[in-house]
Amino acid sequence: MGKFELSPLPYDYKALEPHIDAQTMTIHHDKHHLAYTNGLNTALESAPDLQSKPVEEILKNIKAVPENIRGAVNFHGGGFDNHNIFWANLNPKGGGEPSGPLADAVKKAFGDFAKFKEQFSKSAVGIQGSGWGWLVYNPSAKKAEIKTMPNQTSPRTDGLVPLLGLDVWEHAYYLKYQNRRADYVGAWWNVINWADVADRYKNAVG
Ligand code: MN
Repeated sequence: MGKFELSPLPYDYKALEPHIDAQTMTIHHDKHHLAYTNGLNTALESAPDLQSKPVEEILKNIKAVPENIRGAVNFHGGGFDNHNIFWANLNPKGGGEPSGPLADAVKKAFGDFAKFKEQFSKSAVGIQGSGWGWLVYNPSAKKAEIKTMPNQTSPRTDGLVPLLGLDVWEHAYYLKYQNRRADYVGAWWNVINWADVADRYKNAVG
């Protein structure tokens, strides 16, 4: 038992149906997310000073992690954090479009919501192999950006703040959608918790 713990899903396993099915949610959370959590704790056994830091800080400063465990922390720490964001980004009553300052940032960066949706979907569907599609805040450029990351590597390791993440690993959709990743991506828009994304944007902008 290590420092990092798997939080329960903030809604029922079947709550996102028909867009994301209960069996996928159960395996994804109880098996895959648990494995990243355990993997992070195992990786940090030899680095007790890091165990007391929030995972966000560890990932932001990934180069400060001892080289012999850096790859494992990047993968399992990224997986632990990414999935925490993924569950919070979703809500059975979600969907629609953002409002407020987040909507303004999306409009400024991409023209309008429809263009953002199209560009985000295209980049996520196009990821080769396993990875994540992200809407991030770039603090140096002071704007929202679309970013793809391979495997479980966190956008935080590039100095970016994750706002909205889409897991396109096959474990996230294969039971229901098989090879139809584009259908999964299309359905995912119906359950986005824009209030959570807006909170992350607000905190990122400061
Ligand atoms: Mn996943």
